Amino acid sequence: MKKIIGIFIVTLLIGTVVSQVSACTGFTASKDENVLVGCNFDWSRDFNVYMNFFPVEEGKFGRILFDLWWPYSGFDYTLAIQGMNDQGLFVDTYMVPEHTVDYSGAPFFESEDPDYYDDALWAYCLAKCSTISEVLDIYNQYDQEWPDGISTGQLFFVDRNGDSLIIEDYDSMIFKEGDFQVITNFLQSQPELGGYPCWRYDTAVSMLENMSNLNVDYFTSICNATHGTSSVFSNVYDLKQEKIWIHYYYNFNNVLEIDLNEELAYGERRSYLGSLFEPEDNLPPEKPDAPTGEISGLPGEDFDYRASKTPDPNGDNIMYLFDWDDGTDSGWIMPTVFGSIKATHNWTERGDYEVKVKARDHYGAESEWSDPFTVTMPKSKSFNIFNPLIIRLIQRFPILEFLL
Ligand code: CA
Repeated sequence: MKKIIGIFIVTLLIGTVVSQVSACTGFTASKDENVLVGCNFDWSRDFNVYMNFFPVEEGKFGRILFDLWWPYSGFDYTLAIQGMNDQGLFVDTYMVPEHTVDYSGAPFFESEDPDYYDDALWAYCLAKCSTISEVLDIYNQYDQEWPDGISTGQLFFVDRNGDSLIIEDYDSMIFKEGDFQVITNFLQSQPELGGYPCWRYDTAVSMLENMSNLNVDYFTSICNATHGTSSVFSNVYDLKQEKIWIHYYYNFNNVLEIDLNEELAYGERRSYLGSLFEPEDNLPPEKPDAPTGEISGLPGEDFDYRASKTPDPNGDNIMYLFDWDDGTDSGWIMPTVFGSIKATHNWTERGDYEVKVKARDHYGAESEWSDPFTVTMPKSKSFNIFNPLIIRLIQRFPILEFLL
């Protein structure tokens, strides 16, 4: 869990303000027999979003989970961000300003099961719970551990009965009152910590107050009114019907409709979300220029390599992948907010390596590999024959020149 929560903190350090990186919006309303949830996942760092189906197993409900692969902090792991199970329970995660956590004193949730994404208690709840009251039981049994007791996230649970709950902390839970509930990136118990006032929150509240008919189209229109330029996906969930309407990069003319139980019948699957939306006439990004950086160095030392931006004929968002020619790569990365495309690597073995880069658009179409940039390992500083000390030694012991 420390790793998972750690990414929120790393992200806070990378982003100048939270809203540039993550500006998610969620809302639910219930009326008569209908329970809907809408949400935008705004994430300016990348579009490494995958959709996973986990069929029912003994002791676990069937469920869909969206997750985000995280290559930024030297770890290689995956963050669970949103999902729904076959009991009509929904969960979503939201970044908030850093704040100190109060623990209940219950044991921290720990599990070796990869289905729970490095001890994510909310992923465990999705496998185990049907209702908000069952979620509360789990949160009474366990604490969610945060590094150094500092939290940067909050959770949103909604069940098919229309109950919903924002969990800021074990002693700060906000239940839905009335017909709807809205969540964005501020703490409703402590708005003074930041992210408030929030135009997305105000817009969603206003549209829900003025709603005449609770339906998928209206919820989609609230997503459309509250998304940012970094909204990777916008989903509307019907928790009674167990259906999801997914939109990608706020193209609200193109919808992917998912029937959870039909999809679960096909078995366990993991799909890159963008590839499910690729238009037939999509073109990949152009071949990038060769990367640049150090041409030689010592094994075990970190070196930075850079790529220059390459255009996509359709104007799509682009991620880049460096191949280090030692059987590893950088993982897909986006340009930073300052526009640079940079990755760090160290080689453990001596030799010549051909570093290459390729580009992928947000539908998953990939460019050709760039021409290579050759890196030589090692350039051993201690054996640099131009080193004045070595020159003096060679003058004194000429056989060294032969040996070196
Ligand atoms: Ca394209």
